[in-house]
Amino acid sequence: NSKIKHSNTDVLIVGAGPSGLMAATWLARTGVPFRIIDKRSNDIFSGQADGLQCRSLEVFKSFSGTTFDMAGMDSAWKMGNHMIEICFWSPDENGKLVRSGRIPDTIPGISRFQQVVIHQGYIENWFEKSIKKFSGDSVEVERPFLPLNIKIDESKVDDPDEYPVEILVRNLSKDKLSKPEQYDNAVANGLYRQFEGDQEKFYDNMQSDIENDPTLDVSEYEIIHCKYLLGSDGAHSWVRKQLGIDMDGETTDFVWGVLDMVPITDFPDIRSRCAIHSKDSGSVMVIPRENDLVRLYIQLKEVPRDPRTKTEASKYTGNVDDKNAASKGRIDRSKITPELILKNAQEIMSPFKLEMTDLDWFTGYQIGQRVSPQFNKYNRVFISGDACHTHSPKAGQGMNVSMMDTYNLGFKLALVCKGLAKQDILKTYESERLQVAKDLIAFDHKLSRMFSGKPMIPQAESLEEGVDMDEFHKAFQLGNEFASGTIVDYNDSVLIDKSNVLPADEKDRTMSKYAKKIPVGRRLNTVKIIAHADGRPYHIADRLLSDGRFRVLIFSGDVKKFTKNMDTLDEFQTYLESEEHFAKKFTPPNAFDNSVIDVITVHASNRYDVELFDFPEFTRPLDFKSRRDYWRLYSGVGRTYHEGTLDAYEEYGIDKEKGAVVVVRPDGYVSLVTEFGISGLKEIDAYFDKFMIPQSKNALPVKSQGVDDKK
Ligand code: FAD
Repeated sequence: NSKIKHSNTDVLIVGAGPSGLMAATWLARTGVPFRIIDKRSNDIFSGQADGLQCRSLEVFKSFSGTTFDMAGMDSAWKMGNHMIEICFWSPDENGKLVRSGRIPDTIPGISRFQQVVIHQGYIENWFEKSIKKFSGDSVEVERPFLPLNIKIDESKVDDPDEYPVEILVRNLSKDKLSKPEQYDNAVANGLYRQFEGDQEKFYDNMQSDIENDPTLDVSEYEIIHCKYLLGSDGAHSWVRKQLGIDMDGETTDFVWGVLDMVPITDFPDIRSRCAIHSKDSGSVMVIPRENDLVRLYIQLKEVPRDPRTKTEASKYTGNVDDKNAASKGRIDRSKITPELILKNAQEIMSPFKLEMTDLDWFTGYQIGQRVSPQFNKYNRVFISGDACHTHSPKAGQGMNVSMMDTYNLGFKLALVCKGLAKQDILKTYESERLQVAKDLIAFDHKLSRMFSGKPMIPQAESLEEGVDMDEFHKAFQLGNEFASGTIVDYNDSVLIDKSNVLPADEKDRTMSKYAKKIPVGRRLNTVKIIAHADGRPYHIADRLLSDGRFRVLIFSGDVKKFTKNMDTLDEFQTYLESEEHFAKKFTPPNAFDNSVIDVITVHASNRYDVELFDFPEFTRPLDFKSRRDYWRLYSGVGRTYHEGTLDAYEEYGIDKEKGAVVVVRPDGYVSLVTEFGISGLKEIDAYFDKFMIPQSKNALPVKSQGVDDKK
């Protein structure tokens, strides 16, 4: 119908859960034209995910800025409940429930943040505010919008300037179809049905309606042409189905209930995270939350089933649950009530008493682990988050990993849409994140089976049966490192160059030869450095904000003791000001000189022994108004007035005579570490030459990235 409105945008995001919102935040931050639609008419106000892992908190902080909180993304750290300890409870030799161990919830020293818990509604809300703020109030989630049809013009997918993806969407606001139908109206719960209408049927009906009545009002329809489409539309992803991508994996017969409430109990560890295995009644996970709430994950012994669904069993795939469905019918989630879940919890936690008040949310779910073999089509349409991996929620990973998918993809889309990098870099989204998803599924598979299994009773006769609690504690402890999100390790690719690394260590880390404690391919862990100009200590991570820029960190060593190092820095001046080399070559005309690749120098001299103006100009450049940028020169060592003595060189394993140069991607991952010398800079040129696009002097100005936050 020619009357249907057509529009263009660079990126269309379908789904405004944590994954879609993270992508939107990147695109808003970097000034890329995009839209984000969701079929839900309302936000989540309670329930769903709650655990934020260290890496997610680091990323939130990186969107917040240092001198002022740019978007409130680090509110989670301030408002969430800080998780300090995990307590294990299991039966003793008499079958009595006792505390069998305690470990820290977050491995000490793994990050400057520790796990906090706060519900998903807040997080989505902070994202939405950030998107508005970063986009100068020009972008908001458009809801309720339903996509009806996708067309991809394969002949155009290789041309980065083309808009090969076409989506027909419908604004549902008139239909009120998108309002979730609460199961019990009194308490918010995860058993509601939101609009699950058959989108294909919707589309067919629309076509025949238009054919029958060419004068039909089509104002609620729109065809959006985009360069890239992102399906962040959750576990039942419509986008994934449109692409014909399956999920591999299985569901199990274990059914869990979730209660968010204020408990009334004599259980002493109710304000700690607990894993409780009872002798015969199943397991409970306790998660203490904000506002005195506690979440209980409870394994349900008696699962309500719907006998009417027995006959459908033949359609299913042979999963454990499907076998049961054949004989007893499918699990009937509508019969999972808060009272039923509480009753199960009371049995597991007996002899401790447990009642509840202020019930906030509840749900029931089945454990399953599934992952898509493919996260993209033609490098033009991508899927992320629950749309491509689902698993049990107890390890607190789903939301975190879903956000990290798009934290990975977002900056790549921004570089490509802004004409700064070649489309090829988008291939690394799948190669990097599919591996993480597979590792996650394996981790969850192991942990959730150990959690759901019956515990082995010490000194009991049937030792071969049941889960060994010592093994379980160990698996949990090991899992905590993985779960923190800080050890994700990306392989060699166009964006990660592991050529200068030492053989992998016992933790499978590939440390650089030049910085023996910096693993290449992993996120750069933060250390403190001191601003040369004013002596203020900063976390280096707060100098590497998520604003779309690559960073080249020049660790020049001790320039006072080794004067040759200052000579090398002087040589760098000529190299870096040349249009032939990376610092200038990839920066569009009229953009700030550090808006694509930000060069920062960290020396190893005491700042009292060497003056700002002893260093070459590139460490304290002038902008077009002759204002000096004081925030590109730091000392990595020395005393501070309030934060003790610092030694970033020691923490990164960098020799104070030899120095090193570290390249960090816009998402904080270490791409390359080279030697401190012109040959090192040449390696960096070779690295960027592989995927960056030289910017012609005659090109139109590109909106500068990160200019509003120079620190
Ligand atoms: P979703 O959050 O599902 O968002 C998808 C969005 O897309 C929704 O807004 C939906 O309305 C929209 N949408 C769907 N289809 C369409 C369509 N066709 N068109 C337009 N819009 C569409 N994770 C953790 O990290 N930590 C935890 O502690 C944790 N606990 C959990 C506890 C429970 C009880 C549950 C159920 C989950 C938990 N999770 C946890 C998992 C977490 O909630 C999910 O992994 C996370 O929400 C996935 O984010 P997403 O953005 O990929 O998908």
